[in-house]
Amino acid sequence: MQLIFETSRPGRRGVRLDPLDVPEATLPAEFCREDAPNLPEVGELDVVRHFTRLSARNFGVDSHFYPLGSCTMKYNPKLADAISALPGLAGLHPHLSSSPVYHGCIQGALEIVYETEHLLAEIAGMREVSLQPIAGAHGELTGALLIAAYHRAKGNKKDTIIIPDSAHGTNPASATIAGFKVVQAPSGADGTIRLDAFKNVMNDSVAGVMLTCPNTHGLFEPDVHKIADLAHEADALLYYDGANLNAIIGQSRPGDLGFDVMHFNLHKTFATPHGMGGPGSGPVGVGERLAPFLPGPRVTRTEVGFGLEMPPQSIGKIAAFFGNFLVAARAYAYLLCQGDEGLKNVARYAVLNANYILARLKDAYDPAYDTTCMHECVFTATRQAKAGVRAIDIAKALLDRGFHAPTIYFPLTVKESIMIEPTETESKQTLDAFCDAMRAIAQAAQDDPESLHAAPQTTPVGRLDEVRAARELDCGCL
Ligand SMILES: *Cc1c(COP(=O)(O)O)cnc(C)c1O
Repeated sequence: MQLIFETSRPGRRGVRLDPLDVPEATLPAEFCREDAPNLPEVGELDVVRHFTRLSARNFGVDSHFYPLGSCTMKYNPKLADAISALPGLAGLHPHLSSSPVYHGCIQGALEIVYETEHLLAEIAGMREVSLQPIAGAHGELTGALLIAAYHRAKGNKKDTIIIPDSAHGTNPASATIAGFKVVQAPSGADGTIRLDAFKNVMNDSVAGVMLTCPNTHGLFEPDVHKIADLAHEADALLYYDGANLNAIIGQSRPGDLGFDVMHFNLHKTFATPHGMGGPGSGPVGVGERLAPFLPGPRVTRTEVGFGLEMPPQSIGKIAAFFGNFLVAARAYAYLLCQGDEGLKNVARYAVLNANYILARLKDAYDPAYDTTCMHECVFTATRQAKAGVRAIDIAKALLDRGFHAPTIYFPLTVKESIMIEPTETESKQTLDAFCDAMRAIAQAAQDDPESLHAAPQTTPVGRLDEVRAARELDCGCL
C-alpha cells in the first residue's frame, strides 16, 4: 500500500477556499517558517480512500471476532454513539458547570451524571458512585486513595495492600502509586486464592485487599466471603476490580459480597468501544464507609433541580469536570436500552459463550483448570509446545484464518496461556467458526508444526519484533 506522501501531487487540494473578501494581511516574519511544511498534497477522495484502506488492514470488532481475554472486546450498539453525539450533549461547554449561574442550562447533563451514578450503584450494590475517573487504572488509583483517606481519618497506621498473583497488572501499579506496599496472595492449583496463604499475609498493617472476581483465570473466588470477613476484622477494606462486570451483572453484586470500594470499566462493559487509548471511563463505587471521601463535586438532586456539592472529606478532584461525560452518556443510553432483563442476559450469554468454547476446545487444548468458567476460559498450550508449537504460533495462525488472537502469556500464573473471552455479543455461528479454526490449528500442530511457524502470511506484515516496535516508535516519513 502506498504512503499518503507517495500519492501526493504538487498543487492538488482537498479543500477550496472562498475568494478573499477582507484586506490581505501579512504575518510578521518572525512567526513564519522558512521552508514549506512537508505535507501530502491530495484530493478529498485520495484522503478518504487512503484512510479507509488503512483502517481495513487491521482487525477490529466491527470487522472481526476479537476474543481477547480480560479485555471485553465486544460489540457496542451504535445507538449509544448516536446518543452521545447529540449536539445538546456533545456541544456542551464543560465550564457551564463551573458556576451555579449556568446550572439551569445543564440540568439534563447533570441528570445523566446523577442517574448513571445511581444505576451503576444499584447494579453493584454500592452506596455511591463517582464518574470522575477516566480509565480502569485511574478508578483503581482513586479507590486506593480513598482507602488511604479512610485510614488517615481514623488514625490507622496501615501501609500494605494484598493483591492476588492472578491480578491485572494495573492493580499493583495503582496501589503503589497511591503509596502502598504490595504483598502478593498466591493462587492454588485450582486457580483461586489459597485461604491459608491469604491468612499468612493478612495482618494489622494491611489497609486493603484488591480482588478480581471472577478472577483473571475466569473463576469465581469461592472464599470471597471469608476473605471479606478476615479483612474487615483487621479494619482493612476490600477493593473489587470490576473491569469485566459483564461476567456478573444482574447476577451478583460486589456490595453484597462484602466489597467496600470498586471500579467499573464503562469502556468494556457499558457501550464504549475499548482500545486505542481512549476515551475511557472507570467510575469508582463505594459503600457507607468511603462515601464521605469521594472525589467531588458530586451531582445532587434538590427540590429545585440538580446542583453540585463537595463531599465533606473529599480527596478532591481526580479529573477535570465530570470525567469523560460522553462515555457516561453512552453508558446511560445502554443501561436504559438493556433494561433489567437485558442486563441479566448480558452475564448469562457472556458466561454461556465462554463455557461453550471451553467445552468445544477442551479435547484439543488443555484447560488450565478442570472446571466450568465464568466469562472467559484459559487454556495452556504446553501440550502443543512439546511438539514445537507455542501459544504465540497458535495466536498468529488464527490471524491467517480471519480471527484476532486471544490474549496469550497472561495470566502469568499459567504457562503458555491462551485466554479467550468471547463476550455476550457473539453468535453461535461465530463461536463455531472460531472453534473450528482453533481445532484445525491444533491438528496442524500435530501433523505439521513447521507450517505454523511462518504464520501470519495473509496480513500486511508478518511477525514483528513487538518489543522493538513499542520502544523505538517509527511513524515513517513525518
Ligand atoms: C482492563 C482491566 C483493567 C484496567 O483498565 P484500563 O481502563 O485499561 O486502565 C483493570 N483490571 C482488569 C481486570 C481489566 O480487565
